[in-house]
Order: sequence, then structure tokens, then C-alpha cells
Amino acid sequence: MIGKLLRKLRGIPEDDTKNYPNRFLKFYYRNHKRLIKERHSLYKNKRKKGICVRCSQPVISDIIFCSYHRQKQQGYNHKARSHKS
Ligand SMILES: [Zn+2]
Repeated sequence: MIGKLLRKLRGIPEDDTKNYPNRFLKFYYRNHKRLIKERHSLYKNKRKKGICVRCSQPVISDIIFCSYHRQKQQGYNHKARSHKS
């Protein structure tokens, strides 16, 4: 993923980046709509197929995580709550 991104960025001529603070931002501005769409459709696909959105293991019924990531998620929630009090 990162390597692919870097290869794409190297192909951009230097003067083409002048309207952007740097190449990474330029890439982001030009592609973020497509990237978000791609990520979203992957997520939806995984939900439809019953695959954990974090790791591609089968999910337990009616949630988007496998048992491992459900436990992880519960850990995060617990932490978030305990910080508030
Ligand atoms: Zn998982």
C-alpha cells in the first residue's frame, strides 16, 4: 500500500505540486474522495460477507468484528469510559 503510493508520487512532475504544501497533501486532495469510497465499499463488502472489518476472520453473529476484535473493542470502550470518570 505505502510502496504503491510512493511510486505514484514519484511519477508526479515537480512543478505540478506548487499549489499544494507537499506531494502527500496533493495526492490526498486529488484522491481522497476515491480512497474513502474504496475503503467504504470494502467495509460494506466485509459486513455483507460476515467478515471482521479489522482482520478478515469470520464474525460472530450480528456484529462487525470477530471474537478477537470484539474483545479488543470492548477493551477500548472500557478504557474510554474509565477516563471520563
Ligand atoms: Zn478481527
